[in-house]
Amino acid sequence: MEQKINSIKESALQELKMAGNREELQEFRVKYLGKKGLLTKVLRGMGEVPAELRPQLGQQANEARLLLEEELDKRLAVLQEKDKDRKLAEETIDVTLPGRPAARGHQHALTLVLQEIKDIFANMGFEVAEGPEIEYDYYNFEALNLPKGHPARDMQDSFYITEEILLRTHTSPVQIRVLEKRVPDLPVRIIAPGRVYRRDDDATHSPMFHQVEGLLVDKNCTLGDLKGVLLSFARRMFGQEREIRLRPSFFPFTEPSAEVDISCINCKGEGCRVCSGTGWLEILGCGMVHPKVLTNTGYDPEEAVGFAFGMGVERIAMLKYGINDLRLFFDNDVRFLRQF
Ligand SMILES: [Zn+2]
Repeated sequence: MEQKINSIKESALQELKMAGNREELQEFRVKYLGKKGLLTKVLRGMGEVPAELRPQLGQQANEARLLLEEELDKRLAVLQEKDKDRKLAEETIDVTLPGRPAARGHQHALTLVLQEIKDIFANMGFEVAEGPEIEYDYYNFEALNLPKGHPARDMQDSFYITEEILLRTHTSPVQIRVLEKRVPDLPVRIIAPGRVYRRDDDATHSPMFHQVEGLLVDKNCTLGDLKGVLLSFARRMFGQEREIRLRPSFFPFTEPSAEVDISCINCKGEGCRVCSGTGWLEILGCGMVHPKVLTNTGYDPEEAVGFAFGMGVERIAMLKYGINDLRLFFDNDVRFLRQF
């Protein structure tokens, strides 16, 4: 029995030295130390050994088991270390390879155009003002001389949150908010860029789009000043050879009111498909601030006079870049966006 234990121990240690990988170590564990392993069998066979020899043989067998378990763990650690070294050697990184450049984004076409609009008006002394996109009916309509039931409200069907609160349909309520705050100071010279909302959705309308409102109120200003400011804007935005024309129009918050056209960018006024043969392209609406808007905000129309204008940023961008579908701005197709 004693010899048997010793020979198992010796051959086991020999085998352990030869084991070259984890699978072999696993086999070794099963062969000697598993439930049916050689050493386990010896321990189980103790019952047949004469009682006086049992303690000594039992101790010997247990010592052999502990030794083998210890050696097994050592061997496993050695193999793991080797494994790691091998992997490190194989998976070297070639630090001289050029890196993969991170894709770099840039500003959206509308952001670029909006920035350009802001720059042009900032150079003419206009400051940027902002207002809430969720607006009271009072600021969006009533204070702008659009009382409830006014037919012009139909052109700006909106998204209502309550009967008195809605998503603003234009940036014009910022006029009221700024004038209320500044009264009675003069001059007031602002542009108000921002998102607006209407219930429209087709190639030239989106439920959400961007406007830039302009407002100038001073002791003295005329339609001629308005035309000068807009001509200067048109030329800086669309080229020095641009002309503008004002056509009579109607807005409840300006009197008189006008639509502004620029000479066609494509045909320079001769008439083509872009301008439907007219030679002109509509870019914005404008007019002299209605006396009611002034009184609504606390200004005296006898002492203050002003002009206002409003343009769609998408419209300006479409004309500037020759884009025929407004929805492209919001589809997030990188092939489109990359071009700006
Ligand atoms: Zn044309």
